[in-house]
Amino acid sequence: MAKDVLCAVNSCTYWEEENRCKAESIFVAYHAAKQPTEPEETDCKTFKKK
Ligand code: SF4
Repeated sequence: MAKDVLCAVNSCTYWEEENRCKAESIFVAYHAAKQPTEPEETDCKTFKKK
């Protein structure tokens, strides 16, 4: 299980100072239909706009 998730998306409700994620858990999924091969091809679906 992931612990101490760091995230730079400061427009998210769950974002805190020092790039901390305060969500209890996060769900990361494919950015597009194809199998990711690069980090940019994954997305946090727990993101919620502030
Ligand atoms: S929920 Fe996702 S996008 Fe939001 S702070 Fe946590 S890791 Fe980042």
